Amino acid sequence: MIFKMFPAAELEDLFALLAVNRIIGPISKGLNKDGHELFDFDHVTDFSHLKIAYTQTIHSAKKFCLPHHEETSTFTFTGDDWQKEVDFGAHQPLVLFGLHPCDINSLNKLDKVLMDSIYPNPFYGAKRQNMLIIGHSCTPQPACFCQSMGTDTVLAGCDLFLTLLGDDYFAEVHSSRAYHLLEQLDCWEPGAKDHARFRASIEKRSDSFTNTVDTSDLTKILDMEFASQVWQQWGERCLSCGTCAQVCPTCYCYGIEEKVDMDLSRAVKNKQLYSCNLIDFAEVAGGHNFRPESHTRLKYRYYHKHRGFVEAFEEALCTGCGRCGTSCLAGITVPEVIASVRGGSHDA
Ligand code: SF4
Ligand code: SF4
Repeated sequence: MIFKMFPAAELEDLFALLAVNRIIGPISKGLNKDGHELFDFDHVTDFSHLKIAYTQTIHSAKKFCLPHHEETSTFTFTGDDWQKEVDFGAHQPLVLFGLHPCDINSLNKLDKVLMDSIYPNPFYGAKRQNMLIIGHSCTPQPACFCQSMGTDTVLAGCDLFLTLLGDDYFAEVHSSRAYHLLEQLDCWEPGAKDHARFRASIEKRSDSFTNTVDTSDLTKILDMEFASQVWQQWGERCLSCGTCAQVCPTCYCYGIEEKVDMDLSRAVKNKQLYSCNLIDFAEVAGGHNFRPESHTRLKYRYYHKHRGFVEAFEEALCTGCGRCGTSCLAGITVPEVIASVRGGSHDA
């Protein structure tokens, strides 16, 4: 790994170098009902709008490679045959500027399913391969439990990762693209003192997490607690609204809908992200619903993320970002659900 340092004031220069592309970064989205500032990822054209010291965005950057809705293909009848047009949606390179470790790791998890599995998704892959990612250090928030999930640091999945150390940035260079970008800034090689400052900042951040999930032997505990009454109790609280999946950086389930014009001249195929908590998620042709009760759907979501995905990919499909709990109107959070399944202090 190559490390560099540069003055924090030159972040604007880095932004300007990248601004020939479309830059996506954290910006302010107003205040919540308690007067706290809300942030979300959006197109940024002016560096002064970039809120690089943001706490957490409402949504992750997933939407830029896995949109909630996309028209994947159109079919037009030209007289004697159908003409098919496919739009992969990768119209221009994107720079994701200022992603926190959990959100970079969420893309790494999605890559395993949507790019590296035996059934890759070309709509995801086309957009994902057209990105440059600048990661940025963060301050753990009360809902964050990424440390428990092993996603609080970044080993791969970005081009550059920046940690703010006072008036300077400590830069971890992950790609040659990033290396050449830094050549255009006023960089220096970090010395022993810089490395010591970096280590001290990492340790200070590690000690500041307040939310945890005990993941030890969790797949086996989930196997043993499949019939636990705890699921019923959480299911009674769940509103089956699907908000948790909507804000989750790792949920990728989707449905396909085909619409055909009445005169059969044109058809479109739409892809829509979906939530396994919605009532019709497991409904099949003929009207049978394999999971008609909310507790079976909620349980399925937890078993997919913390058991099935771990069996398949040796890691959970959860980054511990805490967004689902923060957004849930019923106050259902991952740490509380897992603790209750383990027989801990949190009750449904
Ligand atoms: S867990 Fe919460 S956010 Fe998710 S579907 Fe149930 S009520 Fe909605
Ligand atoms: S399940 Fe919740 S905590 Fe885990 S990645 Fe999704 S939104 Fe974040």
